[in-house]
Amino acid sequence: MKYSPSSDNSLLYGKNHFIYKTEESDDRIDIFLKSSVHSCKCPFCGVESSDLHATYERTLQDVPIRCKPTYVHANVFKYNCVNAECSQKVFMEPLPFASASQVRTDSLNALVLAVAMFMSNEGASTVLSLMGVTISNDTIQRLYDRIEFKDDPDVEAVGIDDVATRKAQTYATAIYDMKDHHMIALLEGRDGASLKEWLKCHKKIRMVARDRASAYASAINEVLPECTQVADRFHLMQNLLDRMKEIFKNELPSTIFIRDGVVLDKAPKKETREKAFDEKRLEGISYDNSPPIDENGTEIKFKSKKRDLNSTKYKKFACSRKKNSN
Ligand SMILES: [Zn+2]
Repeated sequence: MKYSPSSDNSLLYGKNHFIYKTEESDDRIDIFLKSSVHSCKCPFCGVESSDLHATYERTLQDVPIRCKPTYVHANVFKYNCVNAECSQKVFMEPLPFASASQVRTDSLNALVLAVAMFMSNEGASTVLSLMGVTISNDTIQRLYDRIEFKDDPDVEAVGIDDVATRKAQTYATAIYDMKDHHMIALLEGRDGASLKEWLKCHKKIRMVARDRASAYASAINEVLPECTQVADRFHLMQNLLDRMKEIFKNELPSTIFIRDGVVLDKAPKKETREKAFDEKRLEGISYDNSPPIDENGTEIKFKSKKRDLNSTKYKKFACSRKKNSN
């Protein structure tokens, strides 16, 4: 399919890129785009240049359309820096939807991490392949390894919570910027020691939403005594539930019987109901009742010893059993 540069495709790849061609086959979708702007600021000196050096095609895997692997082919411009003072002679036009040197768009990386968060990398790789994303579990791990937290020394309101980096084994202290809840630091341990050191470099903090851990409270009190501390929503709810449980424990009986949505005064009478055979299921089960045979084809007879309770042998055994039990 062909597109004219005037048609508005800004919804997909930003206002400065337009789709000029799409191709679809049974197993993939290819989208071809170009930049509609023919000048760019040098990322090193900031001087705008429209001196085109060359173009090249950058191929990126994108979020799949209708579960088909989807690829974006961006025609990227390279510019000569027009600033004679600048050390950078040639620079590349940045793409708003993909970081430099990435082979996947930012939104696809976000999707991969969102899926991988809830399962193993191997499981995520399989689920993603069903969705139309081709990515190995090793690559998912590399995406994880690249995540870094950008600390903000000027942050004024933070949320602090303890997180298990290995369930019930290793704990860490996570610090979020309250403005948009993104993580700005992940500190070792949850005893407040690392938090105390971190707070010393973040003296602009005026408010902390934290969990109920007293270790955090004392660390904050010590370093930032003026700071307002509030319990976060989750922990407020937990406090409330704990308190309510306490109250109800005294008021309510240990067992409550409910039938058809009505609370009964006393335990209902136990009804015993005989369970009938499911005839249909029984019919469906085939049972081989033929006698077993050995390798020569002859029937294996089982000895069915008849027990004669009046035999002298039995009486003797019975007698000695009685003696032993007495
Ligand atoms: Zn420059």
